[in-house]
Amino acid sequence: MSKSEKYIETCDKYLLHTYNRYQIVLERGEGVYLYDADQKKYLDFAAGIAVFALGYGNKDFNEAVKRQIDSVIHTSNLYYNEPAAAASENFCRISGMDRVFFTNSGTEAIEGAVKSARKYAFTEDGSADHEIIAFEHSFHGRSMGALEVTGNAHYREAFGPWTGSVKYAEYNDLESVKALISEKTCAIILETVQGEGGIYPAKPEFIKGIRKLCDEKGILMILDEIQCGMGRTGHMFAYEAYGVKPDIMTSAKALGCGIPAGAFAMTEKTAEKALKPGDHGSTYGGNPLACAAVNEVIRQFEERDIVSHVKALTPVLEGALDELASKHSHILERRGSGFMQALELDIPASEVIAGAQAEGLLIISAGAKVLRLVPPLIIEEEDIDNMKNILDKVFKSI
Ligand code: PLP
Repeated sequence: MSKSEKYIETCDKYLLHTYNRYQIVLERGEGVYLYDADQKKYLDFAAGIAVFALGYGNKDFNEAVKRQIDSVIHTSNLYYNEPAAAASENFCRISGMDRVFFTNSGTEAIEGAVKSARKYAFTEDGSADHEIIAFEHSFHGRSMGALEVTGNAHYREAFGPWTGSVKYAEYNDLESVKALISEKTCAIILETVQGEGGIYPAKPEFIKGIRKLCDEKGILMILDEIQCGMGRTGHMFAYEAYGVKPDIMTSAKALGCGIPAGAFAMTEKTAEKALKPGDHGSTYGGNPLACAAVNEVIRQFEERDIVSHVKALTPVLEGALDELASKHSHILERRGSGFMQALELDIPASEVIAGAQAEGLLIISAGAKVLRLVPPLIIEEEDIDNMKNILDKVFKSI
């Protein structure tokens, strides 16, 4: 039995079976490459599901985290600490928001965003029967509040009963949103680019239309930037491209680059009527270790101008994928934004993913027939070329 087979057997015996895992045991990383327990090398175009933006074995990042471990890891939010001070200022600067709450994950950030919207509406009219408009095919997380605003019904099916206060509109269809608005609507929540639902960027007129509707009707606009934010689309946050600003936004994934960290943030005007002492909390959320990671991530984003790098290389990545699409009839469409790209197929994505793994390339899916490419944001032209050549070979063999 190989080392990998041994680990797989143990995990399959003791871990709760909530994932169908690929038969690969990853052991270490270097730049844009990962190595398995048997030392096979993989070019990584998955980045731990759009998390590891700055590359593996990043010395400055590792040192910053180690320094914080040696200083203090956790204190609770009953006291102030220096990394949290810096992280709050840094996050508000890069997001354009005024107030932030740090969480441990994306789903927890969504919980905070939804609670903030409900509390805001409660402060305004004293009632607790408000509605939220979410979208079909959206994904916002697995905890109960985040699950209720997740549009994919099959994620929710077994876990009811639900509050019934969430309505689902069609993404990129403003009329379907208008049809659901009532005097009880307190928020509209959407991903600026839908991720798990298949990589669908919002159309400019749709996002702008929602902003206008929200302004006219006094409804809060919540943008989920957990997957599409932190540079992935060639903007620090994807909403910048549309010239709109949400009232509340969420972040996670690349925010901590592997150290569990998320955030929900809002404008001062929203914060004034939202959460107050006693309304919300988290034992771990924004602890010194997580905030040290967030600070180093933001420092490197700014110093290395990661956003400009993504912007500059987006045409190269899109060009490579378009070339594949023009050569292989199993590819029906390329779509996406920046380094968040999809290839829609007429065959199961799992076939291509397995072929790519055999050739040393990690890619993932976003739906049964959609390949998702969310590489580390530091990839270079050479990596894109390598990815293209491997996928070319895989498609040829299918
Ligand atoms: N929101 C979006 C857009 C996501 O893509 C995800 C995770 O894939 C989440 C929320 C949930 O984040 P987490 O898995 O960190 O709870």
